[in-house]
Amino acid sequence: MIVQRGYTYRLYPTSIQKQSFAQWSGVCRAVYNAALFQRRHFGRKGRYFSFASQCRELTDLRNEFDWIKIVSQTAEQQALKDLDQAHKNFFAGRAGYPTPRRKHTNESFRINGRECSWRKLHRHSALVKLPKIGEVRFRLTRPLPNQKPGCDENGSPFGPDIRSVTISRTALGWQVSFACRFEIEDRSRRNKAVGIDRGVANSIALSTGDLDSIPLEQIRLLDRRHRKHQQAMARRKRGSARYAKARQRAAAVKAKAARIRRQWNHEKTKAIAGRFGTVCIEDLKIVNMTASAKGTIDKPGRNVRQKAGLNRSILEQGWYQFETFLAYKIEAQGGQIIKVNPVNTSRECRKCHCISHRNRESQALFRCIACGHEEHADVHAAKTILRAGTRPSGHKTIPKISRHTFRREKISSL
Ligand SMILES: [Zn+2]
Repeated sequence: MIVQRGYTYRLYPTSIQKQSFAQWSGVCRAVYNAALFQRRHFGRKGRYFSFASQCRELTDLRNEFDWIKIVSQTAEQQALKDLDQAHKNFFAGRAGYPTPRRKHTNESFRINGRECSWRKLHRHSALVKLPKIGEVRFRLTRPLPNQKPGCDENGSPFGPDIRSVTISRTALGWQVSFACRFEIEDRSRRNKAVGIDRGVANSIALSTGDLDSIPLEQIRLLDRRHRKHQQAMARRKRGSARYAKARQRAAAVKAKAARIRRQWNHEKTKAIAGRFGTVCIEDLKIVNMTASAKGTIDKPGRNVRQKAGLNRSILEQGWYQFETFLAYKIEAQGGQIIKVNPVNTSRECRKCHCISHRNRESQALFRCIACGHEEHADVHAAKTILRAGTRPSGHKTIPKISRHTFRREKISSL
């Protein structure tokens, strides 16, 4: 099976390279916005624009303006390609009408993979060679899978498997993302099934008894820091240099928290996809609908609930990402995800099927009031989910995740 995946690394550009990056993203943004204006304005008057026609006009523009010519033509063509795709998405009803790209928000440009190469310096250090800009150092935190047969592992000129190289600025600095297309072996579907329960004390509990938690304390600390920087913003004058500094700090802290969560989700979903062929999880949407009416499953103590509410909100933000990562990783291995109705998964005894909120003795303990069955509450719930999902009837298999959703997730997780 051929898959396309993004590999993102932190860049360490020199100050001159940083200036080039800013210039290149600025020019590509201007080209994008000009092309968007052209399509919007003259499109109404009946003129038709295509990727190819706008590329031809780009060539004329480059001869006219030096500041456009400075930047690689293929990078500008990639911007036109993005716009073309944005229009296609709009007319297919997948997205709204494209909006102009904005400074500070859209600081990125993409280069065709054929024009770039990379080489390894040390174990965790490498250089990516970009046209006109030169070699930029990046931290090689995980191997790039672009080696074609016969190439040594120290990097090689890109083959057709590297589609593109994107340079973008986040709140944490510049980063490089390699879009790699490669073949993965389609492993035979393993029949081993697992149920996963998401909880408050433990982010995930497996029906095998494994418990795992996202570093909540770390995320909460960053959350507090984020609030502090926001307060500093509020005290400062809008548009001033000090305001910009506080805003940059707030954004960096937030991006860091998101990165921790993303890393955790990638690690855990990879481990699960490697072990199991069938994964049963709760259908989150149904939880949201019933939660307000039926109350929460946890101990009805006030402070517990408040704390749980905070934890839950942190976890819920990550749960959708967890599901998405798990879906594509499982699918790549020929497995499946089964979503089950989560109602009563934490209240129903799996031995005697007695349903009562009193079965949940505490946050951590499940004790059936009818038969006395005792188990860790989250693991018990995971086992109930597994049984509900693998029962011959009453389960729902989600369709393969659509390419569109997958791509959108990838872009937002850069
Ligand atoms: Zn029971």
